[in-house]
Amino acid sequence: MRIEPIIKVSKINHYYGTGQLRKQILFDISTEIQAGEIVIVTGPSGSGKTTLLNLIGALSSVQEGSLTVLGQELNRANNKLLENVRKNIGFIFQAHNLLTSLTASQNVQMSLALHGGISKREAERKAQAILEMVGLGERVNYYPNQMSGGQKQRVAIARALVTNPSVILADEPTAALDKKSGRDVVEMLQYLAKQQGCAILLVTHDNRILDVADRIISLEDGFLTSSKNTSSNNSHRLASLKGELINHVEDLSLKDFLSLLQQVTGEFQSFLSLIDNEATGKCLEEIIEAITLKITHLLQAERSTIFIVDDTSGNLWSEIIQSNRKKILKVGITAHFGVAAHVAATRECLNIPIALQDYRYSPAIDEQTGYQTRNILCLPILNSQSKVLAISQVLNKIGNNCFDRKDEQLLGEFSQQISAIFDMWCHLQKLHKTSISGKY
Ligand code: ADP
Ligand code: MG
Repeated sequence: MRIEPIIKVSKINHYYGTGQLRKQILFDISTEIQAGEIVIVTGPSGSGKTTLLNLIGALSSVQEGSLTVLGQELNRANNKLLENVRKNIGFIFQAHNLLTSLTASQNVQMSLALHGGISKREAERKAQAILEMVGLGERVNYYPNQMSGGQKQRVAIARALVTNPSVILADEPTAALDKKSGRDVVEMLQYLAKQQGCAILLVTHDNRILDVADRIISLEDGFLTSSKNTSSNNSHRLASLKGELINHVEDLSLKDFLSLLQQVTGEFQSFLSLIDNEATGKCLEEIIEAITLKITHLLQAERSTIFIVDDTSGNLWSEIIQSNRKKILKVGITAHFGVAAHVAATRECLNIPIALQDYRYSPAIDEQTGYQTRNILCLPILNSQSKVLAISQVLNKIGNNCFDRKDEQLLGEFSQQISAIFDMWCHLQKLHKTSISGKY
């Protein structure tokens, strides 16, 4: 299986100046960066690091060669496309570039506002949450000049990450910081990026932070002189696998999807108890989201939901309803009755062609979501001891048909293949009782 890198630089040349003053700055640069990977670019001052970063960030235009970011070719791209690519990138510069007349929270909210589509209240909530994650929960209403260099740079990180970018570009983010704050800032960046599965390209000549990289590339006088792999850690592999799973869920064949899912599950198991529960829970949620998306696609359904069985209460809950295409609806739902609860209790597979005529169908959820269910296919996801871990439910076969035997079989097989994920979820619930199940 071939998975496209998130950034692909191929035979890039770059020049500044015109006529006699034209000077070549970058020479035949080629490299690739995968989702979830942290790559450090080193090299002496003037070697072309910032120039390369600006090209990748769609901040200056590609002159020669090919550069694809998130699957988009930037060479000869129009402004609209460049702007779209930039929206998926978080930028962090040497000078923090915070607006001094705005508080930490307002600086972060500004980044959300530029992306649009978010209410003021939601922006405030997100800003607060991410500032807490960078350890500035107490300083949300401070102005930049009331904060230390390290704190300001952490606000800049929060601002870059709050929109969940797929790529972070950081140009000498520790240059203005002392050793300890520099280290803190980079570790924070590393931690958050791994959590969100985003790729980081970090320019630095600070040797003290090279160890956070999965790979180091060096530039000298515009030539790429070496590219070393330093990656050995599990969580990087997981983040990158997870990124692939989620970003390519529709393009992957069923076989590739399942084999990637199996890899993710394996990696996950190996360090389940090592990393903190919030991060693991979040990561599993995303994987379940990808699975839900795949099911919708596979069964040609309008919607699908996976209900998880809460071990203590026996309730079913779901946070994610997958509507057609990539639109994820997040609606917290607890099912005490209805089709899913029936399946949980009986372990039967239910295929209901006309929902309204079935006594087990309960219109309460439709009333809550404003949706109209026509037909339902619903199956239990069991572990090897036949315990019900979750329920997978698809609604409304596209094209006015109903689900047939083949769909039942397909969903049945798929449910078997994914049961390990839910087994892990149960395990995690037990390990960290409070934060996972407490949420719901
Ligand atoms: P680095 O980030 O590695 O220090 P830069 O990419 O900033 O290197 O610069 C590489 C070379 O390009 C330097 O010689 C610099 O003087 C030159 N340069 C950078 N920006 C410009 C520009 N806008 N116009 C002309 N020359 C530039
Ligand atoms: Mg530079």
